[in-house]
Amino acid sequence: MSTPGQMPALFLGHGNPLITLEQNPYTRAWHSLGESLPRPQAVLCISAHWYLPATLVTAAPIPRTIHDFNGFPDTLYDIQYPAPGAPELAQDIRRLLAPLNVGLDSEWGLDHGAWTVLRHMYPRADVPIVQLSLNRSEDAAWHYELAKRLQPLRDQGVLIVGSGNLIHNLREYDWNREHTDPFDWAARFESFARDRMAAADFGPLVHYEQLGPDAMLAAPSPDHYLPLLYVLAQHRPGDRISFPVDGFDGGSMSMLAVLIQ
Ligand code: ZN
Repeated sequence: MSTPGQMPALFLGHGNPLITLEQNPYTRAWHSLGESLPRPQAVLCISAHWYLPATLVTAAPIPRTIHDFNGFPDTLYDIQYPAPGAPELAQDIRRLLAPLNVGLDSEWGLDHGAWTVLRHMYPRADVPIVQLSLNRSEDAAWHYELAKRLQPLRDQGVLIVGSGNLIHNLREYDWNREHTDPFDWAARFESFARDRMAAADFGPLVHYEQLGPDAMLAAPSPDHYLPLLYVLAQHRPGDRISFPVDGFDGGSMSMLAVLIQ
């Protein structure tokens, strides 16, 4: 059993941005999570799409909706998600991560890693959101250790949401058909990762680059994988781990969600 008052932590596979436009099993499941989880004071989102050589936290009171993709239909560019920011939470995060110098950023906003999922969890856009960047100069173990220092936020009503994909390989992705069955390597890697998570044995997942070819196909670049480590790092003794959303898109994109509570 988790401690009373402690917020869960949640990893969401966001996948293809088009998924957000429709009512489908993924968007319905995200909506259900928003309804069933304790209502947070704020969300800290670690998105695959804020990946740069620095550690920054968004500090704007009104973050803009960023359409950080190309070649999608106009309806996707028309979406605005006007959730407020939380500048005080940004300051709290700076303090928690000190002496690391975390920059306060007022240029970024909510990228599609954040809004494509959060607009289904909180359709009224009434939960403040802060994003923390992924520092691309650092390795996976560094991110995992850094993320552990965010644990006190769980006691302050903050829901930590990692948004990426456990498996995200666009080179192998099947754009032409509704490929819901995973490729063999993808099925193997997801099964391995689920077993390790269910056993709360995160070491192999933190050091995923040593896991061989399946892992390298699953995470050919770290950006969509690292947000998972931020969520696993919130695990405390006695927490339960579950997988409230699963499925595959295009054969090479795992839509698995991981809930720690
Ligand atoms: Zn993405």
